[in-house]
Amino acid sequence: LLKRVIKAEKLEVVSHLAASISHEVRNPLTTTKGFLQLLRDDEISTEKRDEYIKISLDELDRATNIIKDYLTFARPEAEHQNPISIHSELKNCMNVLTPLAQMENVQFKEDFCEEELFVLGDSLKFKQSIINILKNGIESYHAGGLIQLSAEKEDTYVKITISDFGKGMTEDQVLRLGEPYFSTKSNGTGLGMMVTYSIIHSMNGHIYVNSAPGQGTVFRIFLPLHVK
Ligand code: ADP
Ligand code: MG
Repeated sequence: LLKRVIKAEKLEVVSHLAASISHEVRNPLTTTKGFLQLLRDDEISTEKRDEYIKISLDELDRATNIIKDYLTFARPEAEHQNPISIHSELKNCMNVLTPLAQMENVQFKEDFCEEELFVLGDSLKFKQSIINILKNGIESYHAGGLIQLSAEKEDTYVKITISDFGKGMTEDQVLRLGEPYFSTKSNGTGLGMMVTYSIIHSMNGHIYVNSAPGQGTVFRIFLPLHVK
């Protein structure tokens, strides 16, 4: 029974993600369509025209950001539970974000244990969950900084630690983390952490967050160790 319950929860997460994407992307697209229709009017002032174009472009950016938070990797319909190597998955995530990190002057520093560690999960989804955390880390800096990643074994779990020394969060912000649409960014979706939490929970994992304004943020992720 327990197995069935867990399975059902996972399916719920998956279909929830799929439903969310189409819902979330529809809003900015509808807004854009409305403003494009307004632009057809020859009578409108140049000022209004510029404003409508700006709103449309911002809304299209928003649609793109939503898709990135959900689907940089993970296809919501597919769920392949495999033993995945934590080290190579984390390395892959860093590689994907290297262009963004370089642009923002952020460096990654890794500290992985010798032993190769495996967990059960969908490689694409797992990467999506880590990338959303790393992206927030990059965005926590104004003028660059360091993000540390470590992976080690702790009892029957793999412990992944991701630290930044950026702007940090208040206690209240930490409590709201993962709540849909909670964002303090002008172009934020407030969906990235929700996606991360649902993926990690669907892997029977746990996330703990420590943060302080002006000091930075530490994410600790525990995932059941897969012993081959
Ligand atoms: P978004 O990044 O689109 O705002 P997220 O769900 O990824 O949405 O994050 C929600 C909010 O949590 C962010 O807007 C930010 O306020 C806060 N946050 C998340 N990670 C960090 C971090 N590493 N440092 C500071 N604030 C963070
Ligand atoms: Mg984010």
